[in-house]
Amino acid sequence: MRPLLADELDLQPHPEGGWYRQTWRADEPVRTRDGRDRATATMILFLLPAGECSAWHRVASEEIWLAHRGVVAIELGGDGTAPVPGVIETLGVDTMRGVGTMLGTCCVTVIAEGTDPVWCMENLMQFYRHESCGQCTPCREGSAWLERVTGKILDGKASMAELGGLHDIANGIMGNTICAFGEGTAMPALAFIQKFRKEFEAYVRGQRTRADARLTVEPWS
Ligand code: SF4
Repeated sequence: MRPLLADELDLQPHPEGGWYRQTWRADEPVRTRDGRDRATATMILFLLPAGECSAWHRVASEEIWLAHRGVVAIELGGDGTAPVPGVIETLGVDTMRGVGTMLGTCCVTVIAEGTDPVWCMENLMQFYRHESCGQCTPCREGSAWLERVTGKILDGKASMAELGGLHDIANGIMGNTICAFGEGTAMPALAFIQKFRKEFEAYVRGQRTRADARLTVEPWS
């Protein structure tokens, strides 16, 4: 039976559980990596009443969730500003601090299981290097070095000493810049190296190559 709120908002049953209604669809189409033609963006209202659940599924596109009512729980267990082992927590600045991580800018980036963490780090460092305004030397040069060395690791051209040097580069940024963008660059870099050291070393040892460092997101069915 349709819950009262779903009735009021005219929501229909969602195939994976819960209730939804599409409220907007962009006119511009886009071809996804797996060859499907989709709208560039869509917007839905989604309701998951207490006692119902949304089945596990993977999405091929980015999603932005805006919580309007109720409590949102999140299952952590990957990288982040400060990675933590798998744990389910209510989403909130204090709860995240309580499990030893941070909500940062209050945005959550969901990365598919199986995504290469070294590739993620390079992608992230490209962003920080690009966005650094360049006023502070540690941020300007440090973000460029972090990107360069991570790229070298992915290309199988870095030594263990250079991998270790990532710590020094990131630590050299911490506390030495005008704005928090410097720490924003250094903290995830340190966390990546700490949590995924094995994966970084696999590239240095030649056990993985850049060709292995691809996203493995499966289409949402
Ligand atoms: S820390 Fe802030 S002010 Fe300094 S270079 Fe980076 S972005 Fe610019």
